[in-house]
Amino acid sequence: MIRRLSFWNTVSRILFLMLTPAFFRLFNFAFIWHSIYWGVISFVVIIWFVFLLISPLFGRIGCGWFCFVGTTQDLPFGYALIKQKKKRKPIVWLRFIMPIGFFASSLTFFFLRLNSGEVEGFRFSPAFFSTELNAHYQHIWMYDTIGALLLGILLEKRWACKNMCAMGSLSAIGSTWSRLLPVIDTNSCNGCKKCETVCLVNIPIFDYVERQDGLVTNSECILCGRCVDVCNKDALKIKFIWNRKRYRAGVEPKSAPFFERNGQKTVIRE
Ligand code: SF4
Ligand code: SF4
Ligand code: SF4
Repeated sequence: MIRRLSFWNTVSRILFLMLTPAFFRLFNFAFIWHSIYWGVISFVVIIWFVFLLISPLFGRIGCGWFCFVGTTQDLPFGYALIKQKKKRKPIVWLRFIMPIGFFASSLTFFFLRLNSGEVEGFRFSPAFFSTELNAHYQHIWMYDTIGALLLGILLEKRWACKNMCAMGSLSAIGSTWSRLLPVIDTNSCNGCKKCETVCLVNIPIFDYVERQDGLVTNSECILCGRCVDVCNKDALKIKFIWNRKRYRAGVEPKSAPFFERNGQKTVIRE
Protein backbone atom coordinates (compact mmCIF):
# COMPACT_ATOMS: atom_id res chain seq x y z
CA MET A 1 0.00 0.00 0.00
CA ILE A 2 2.88 2.33 0.80
CA ARG A 3 3.89 2.01 -2.88
CA ARG A 4 0.96 4.23 -3.73
CA LEU A 5 2.52 7.11 -1.88
CA SER A 6 3.99 8.82 -4.91
CA PHE A 7 0.68 8.39 -6.72
CA TRP A 8 -1.14 10.28 -3.96
CA ASN A 9 1.66 12.79 -3.90
CA THR A 10 1.07 13.48 -7.60
CA VAL A 11 -2.69 13.74 -7.07
CA SER A 12 -2.18 16.23 -4.26
CA ARG A 13 0.21 18.33 -6.31
CA ILE A 14 -2.05 18.42 -9.38
CA LEU A 15 -5.00 19.35 -7.18
CA PHE A 16 -3.13 22.23 -5.57
CA LEU A 17 -1.79 23.36 -8.90
CA MET A 18 -5.31 23.43 -10.32
CA LEU A 19 -6.58 25.25 -7.27
CA THR A 20 -3.99 27.98 -7.66
CA PRO A 21 -6.06 30.13 -10.05
CA ALA A 22 -8.97 29.80 -7.64
CA PHE A 23 -6.73 30.91 -4.80
CA PHE A 24 -5.70 33.94 -6.81
CA ARG A 25 -9.25 34.82 -7.64
CA LEU A 26 -10.84 34.19 -4.28
CA PHE A 27 -8.18 35.01 -1.78
CA ASN A 28 -5.88 37.42 -3.55
CA PHE A 29 -2.97 35.11 -3.09
CA ALA A 30 -0.82 37.90 -1.68
CA PHE A 31 2.61 36.50 -1.03
CA ILE A 32 3.94 36.58 2.48
CA TRP A 33 6.31 39.48 1.78
CA HIS A 34 3.46 41.56 0.42
CA SER A 35 1.13 40.51 3.20
CA ILE A 36 3.61 41.84 5.75
CA TYR A 37 4.06 44.96 3.63
CA TRP A 38 0.31 45.55 3.68
CA GLY A 39 0.01 44.63 7.35
CA VAL A 40 -2.37 41.78 6.59
CA ILE A 41 -2.44 38.26 7.95
CA SER A 42 -3.61 36.73 4.71
CA PHE A 43 -4.49 33.21 3.61
CA VAL A 44 -0.99 32.40 2.45
CA VAL A 45 0.55 33.64 5.72
CA ILE A 46 -1.69 31.28 7.67
CA ILE A 47 -0.86 28.33 5.41
CA TRP A 48 2.88 28.86 5.68
CA PHE A 49 2.74 29.53 9.39
CA VAL A 50 1.04 26.14 9.80
CA PHE A 51 3.68 24.46 7.59
CA LEU A 52 6.51 26.00 9.59
CA LEU A 53 4.87 25.00 12.83
CA ILE A 54 4.45 21.37 11.83
CA SER A 55 7.89 21.00 10.20
CA PRO A 56 9.52 19.47 13.32
CA LEU A 57 6.87 16.78 13.07
CA PHE A 58 6.11 16.36 9.36
CA GLY A 59 9.25 17.83 7.81
CA ARG A 60 8.87 19.69 4.51
CA ILE A 61 5.57 18.12 3.62
CA GLY A 62 4.34 21.54 2.45
CA CYS A 63 7.17 21.73 -0.11
CA GLY A 64 6.52 18.24 -1.43
CA TRP A 65 2.75 17.96 -1.38
CA PHE A 66 1.24 21.43 -1.72
CA CYS A 67 3.53 24.22 -2.90
CA PHE A 68 2.68 25.07 -6.50
CA VAL A 69 6.08 26.67 -7.14
CA GLY A 70 7.79 23.44 -6.15
CA THR A 71 5.34 21.37 -8.19
CA THR A 72 5.85 23.48 -11.30
CA GLN A 73 9.56 22.78 -11.10
CA ASP A 74 8.83 19.05 -10.93
CA LEU A 75 6.27 18.91 -13.75
CA PRO A 76 7.06 16.52 -16.62
CA PHE A 77 8.60 19.30 -18.71
CA GLY A 78 10.75 20.14 -15.70
CA TYR A 79 11.87 16.48 -15.44
CA ALA A 80 12.74 16.47 -19.12
CA LEU A 81 14.76 19.65 -18.92
CA ILE A 82 16.41 19.20 -15.56
CA LYS A 83 18.87 16.37 -15.88
CA GLN A 84 20.61 14.83 -12.93
CA LYS A 85 23.39 17.22 -12.01
CA LYS A 86 26.22 17.07 -9.58
CA LYS A 87 24.95 17.17 -6.02
CA ARG A 88 25.44 20.56 -4.44
CA LYS A 89 25.08 21.37 -0.81
CA PRO A 90 22.84 24.33 -0.04
CA ILE A 91 24.80 27.57 0.25
CA VAL A 92 24.49 28.30 3.95
CA TRP A 93 25.08 32.07 3.87
CA LEU A 94 22.54 32.47 1.06
CA ARG A 95 20.04 30.43 3.01
CA PHE A 96 20.41 32.71 6.01
CA ILE A 97 20.45 35.93 4.05
CA MET A 98 17.26 35.17 2.17
CA PRO A 99 14.90 34.92 5.17
CA ILE A 100 16.68 37.75 7.00
CA GLY A 101 16.41 40.02 3.95
CA PHE A 102 12.88 38.85 3.33
CA PHE A 103 11.53 39.69 6.77
CA ALA A 104 13.76 42.73 7.39
CA SER A 105 12.68 44.42 4.15
CA SER A 106 8.97 43.60 4.43
CA LEU A 107 8.85 44.67 8.09
CA THR A 108 10.76 47.89 7.31
CA PHE A 109 8.14 48.82 4.72
CA PHE A 110 5.42 47.87 7.14
CA PHE A 111 6.80 50.12 9.89
CA LEU A 112 7.31 53.00 7.45
CA ARG A 113 3.70 52.70 6.46
CA LEU A 114 2.69 52.43 10.10
CA ASN A 115 4.58 55.64 10.88
CA SER A 116 2.99 57.48 8.03
CA GLY A 117 -0.45 56.33 9.20
CA GLU A 118 -1.19 54.30 6.06
CA VAL A 119 -1.81 51.20 8.15
CA GLU A 120 -2.86 50.88 11.77
CA GLY A 121 -1.15 47.63 12.53
CA PHE A 122 -1.66 44.04 11.47
CA ARG A 123 -5.18 43.04 10.64
CA PHE A 124 -6.56 39.57 10.16
CA SER A 125 -7.93 39.21 6.66
CA PRO A 126 -7.53 35.74 5.14
CA ALA A 127 -9.60 36.65 2.07
CA PHE A 128 -7.70 39.85 1.37
CA PHE A 129 -9.71 40.76 -1.75
CA SER A 130 -8.41 43.07 -4.41
CA THR A 131 -8.86 42.41 -8.11
CA GLU A 132 -6.14 44.88 -9.01
CA LEU A 133 -3.60 43.22 -6.75
CA ASN A 134 -4.52 39.78 -8.01
CA ALA A 135 -3.11 40.56 -11.46
CA HIS A 136 0.03 41.95 -9.84
CA TYR A 137 0.61 38.79 -7.82
CA GLN A 138 -0.13 36.54 -10.77
CA HIS A 139 2.81 38.17 -12.53
CA ILE A 140 5.04 37.79 -9.49
CA TRP A 141 4.08 34.12 -9.28
CA MET A 142 4.95 33.59 -12.95
CA TYR A 143 8.33 35.33 -12.63
CA ASP A 144 9.15 33.44 -9.42
CA THR A 145 8.25 30.10 -10.94
CA ILE A 146 9.99 30.63 -14.26
CA GLY A 147 13.08 31.90 -12.40
CA ALA A 148 13.10 28.80 -10.17
CA LEU A 149 12.75 26.53 -13.20
CA LEU A 150 15.63 28.24 -15.01
CA LEU A 151 17.88 27.96 -11.97
CA GLY A 152 16.98 24.27 -11.80
CA ILE A 153 17.95 23.78 -15.43
CA LEU A 154 21.20 25.69 -15.07
CA LEU A 155 22.33 24.51 -11.65
CA GLU A 156 20.51 21.61 -10.01
CA LYS A 157 17.01 20.25 -9.45
CA ARG A 158 15.11 22.55 -7.09
CA TRP A 159 18.17 24.74 -6.59
CA ALA A 160 15.98 27.75 -5.83
CA CYS A 161 14.05 25.75 -3.22
CA LYS A 162 17.28 24.77 -1.52
CA ASN A 163 18.94 28.16 -1.56
CA MET A 164 16.62 31.06 -2.25
CA CYS A 165 13.18 30.44 -0.81
CA ALA A 166 12.84 32.04 2.62
CA MET A 167 10.00 29.71 3.56
CA GLY A 168 11.95 26.69 2.34
CA SER A 169 14.94 27.69 4.47
CA LEU A 170 12.79 28.08 7.58
CA SER A 171 11.02 24.77 6.91
CA ALA A 172 14.41 23.12 6.48
CA ILE A 173 15.41 24.29 9.97
CA GLY A 174 12.23 22.81 11.44
CA SER A 175 12.55 19.59 9.48
CA THR A 176 15.96 18.92 11.01
CA TRP A 177 13.91 17.36 13.82
CA SER A 178 11.25 15.84 11.58
CA ARG A 179 9.68 12.69 12.97
CA LEU A 180 8.38 11.68 9.54
CA LEU A 181 11.24 10.53 7.33
CA PRO A 182 12.34 7.92 4.79
CA VAL A 183 13.75 4.90 6.56
CA ILE A 184 15.87 2.23 4.86
CA ASP A 185 15.99 -1.31 6.01
CA THR A 186 19.76 -1.61 5.77
CA ASN A 187 19.66 -5.38 5.63
CA SER A 188 17.37 -5.46 2.59
CA CYS A 189 19.10 -2.65 0.69
CA ASN A 190 21.36 -3.90 -2.13
CA GLY A 191 23.04 -0.59 -2.89
CA CYS A 192 21.56 -0.14 -6.37
CA LYS A 193 21.03 3.61 -5.74
CA LYS A 194 17.89 3.73 -7.87
CA CYS A 195 16.33 5.77 -5.09
CA GLU A 196 18.97 8.47 -5.56
CA THR A 197 18.33 8.78 -9.27
CA VAL A 198 14.63 9.53 -8.78
CA CYS A 199 15.00 11.81 -5.77
CA LEU A 200 13.51 15.18 -6.61
CA VAL A 201 16.01 17.05 -4.47
CA ASN A 202 19.12 15.02 -5.22
CA ILE A 203 19.61 13.53 -1.76
CA PRO A 204 22.49 11.04 -1.53
CA ILE A 205 20.14 8.49 0.04
CA PHE A 206 22.56 5.59 0.03
CA ASP A 207 24.95 7.55 2.28
CA TYR A 208 22.42 7.00 5.04
CA VAL A 209 22.74 3.27 4.62
CA GLU A 210 26.49 3.53 4.80
CA ARG A 211 26.18 5.40 8.05
CA GLN A 212 24.57 2.17 9.23
CA ASP A 213 21.27 3.43 10.61
CA GLY A 214 19.23 3.94 7.42
CA LEU A 215 17.45 7.06 8.68
CA VAL A 216 17.38 9.62 5.89
CA THR A 217 17.64 12.63 8.17
CA ASN A 218 18.14 15.15 5.39
CA SER A 219 16.32 18.43 5.87
CA GLU A 220 15.93 18.82 2.09
CA CYS A 221 13.63 15.79 1.88
CA ILE A 222 10.17 16.81 0.72
CA LEU A 223 8.60 13.41 1.47
CA CYS A 224 7.47 12.87 -2.11
CA GLY A 225 7.71 9.08 -1.79
CA ARG A 226 9.42 8.48 -5.16
CA CYS A 227 12.33 6.68 -3.55
CA VAL A 228 9.87 4.35 -1.81
CA ASP A 229 8.20 3.38 -5.08
CA VAL A 230 11.35 2.74 -7.04
CA CYS A 231 12.98 0.41 -4.52
CA ASN A 232 12.76 -3.15 -5.83
CA LYS A 233 13.90 -4.56 -2.52
CA ASP A 234 11.07 -2.91 -0.64
CA ALA A 235 13.76 -1.55 1.63
CA LEU A 236 12.48 2.01 1.86
CA LYS A 237 9.45 3.25 3.75
CA ILE A 238 8.36 6.62 5.04
CA LYS A 239 7.78 6.21 8.76
CA PHE A 240 7.25 8.11 11.96
CA ILE A 241 10.35 7.72 14.08
CA TRP A 242 9.67 9.36 17.40
CA ASN A 243 12.98 8.58 19.02
CA ARG A 244 15.93 8.47 16.66
CA LYS A 245 18.36 7.43 19.37
CA ARG A 246 16.27 4.44 20.33
CA TYR A 247 15.83 3.48 16.67
CA ARG A 248 19.57 3.67 16.02
CA ALA A 249 20.31 1.59 19.06
CA GLY A 250 18.12 -1.16 17.59
CA VAL A 251 19.79 -1.26 14.16
CA GLU A 252 22.04 -4.24 13.74
CA PRO A 253 25.52 -3.76 12.26
CA LYS A 254 25.84 -4.76 8.58
CA SER A 255 27.74 -7.69 7.27
CA ALA A 256 31.31 -6.89 6.25
CA PRO A 257 31.07 -7.71 2.52
CA PHE A 258 28.33 -5.19 2.06
CA PHE A 259 29.92 -2.38 3.97
CA GLU A 260 33.43 -2.45 2.74
CA ARG A 261 35.24 0.45 4.30
CA ASN A 262 38.48 0.91 2.45
CA GLY A 263 37.69 0.32 -1.15
CA GLN A 264 34.63 0.26 -3.30
CA LYS A 265 31.74 1.72 -1.44
CA THR A 266 28.82 0.02 -3.18
CA VAL A 267 28.70 -3.71 -2.88
CA ILE A 268 25.71 -5.34 -4.49
CA ARG A 269 24.09 -8.11 -2.56
CA GLU A 270 22.22 -10.79 -4.48
S1 SF4 B 1 11.19 25.73 -0.92
FE1 SF4 B 1 9.76 27.42 -1.26
S2 SF4 B 1 9.26 27.36 -3.43
FE2 SF4 B 1 10.24 25.42 -2.93
S3 SF4 B 1 8.55 24.05 -2.50
FE3 SF4 B 1 9.19 24.90 -0.54
S4 SF4 B 1 7.93 26.73 -0.24
FE4 SF4 B 1 7.73 26.13 -2.38
S1 SF4 C 1 16.59 1.64 -4.22
FE1 SF4 C 1 16.33 0.40 -2.37
S2 SF4 C 1 17.84 -1.21 -2.58
FE2 SF4 C 1 18.45 0.38 -4.01
S3 SF4 C 1 19.90 1.70 -2.84
FE3 SF4 C 1 17.86 2.58 -2.60
S4 SF4 C 1 17.09 1.68 -0.68
FE4 SF4 C 1 18.82 0.40 -1.36
S1 SF4 D 1 14.49 11.15 -0.14
FE1 SF4 D 1 12.74 10.12 -1.09
S2 SF4 D 1 10.95 11.10 -0.16
FE2 SF4 D 1 12.71 12.44 0.21
S3 SF4 D 1 12.70 13.88 -1.49
FE3 SF4 D 1 14.07 12.21 -2.07
S4 SF4 D 1 12.74 10.79 -3.23
FE4 SF4 D 1 11.38 12.18 -2.11
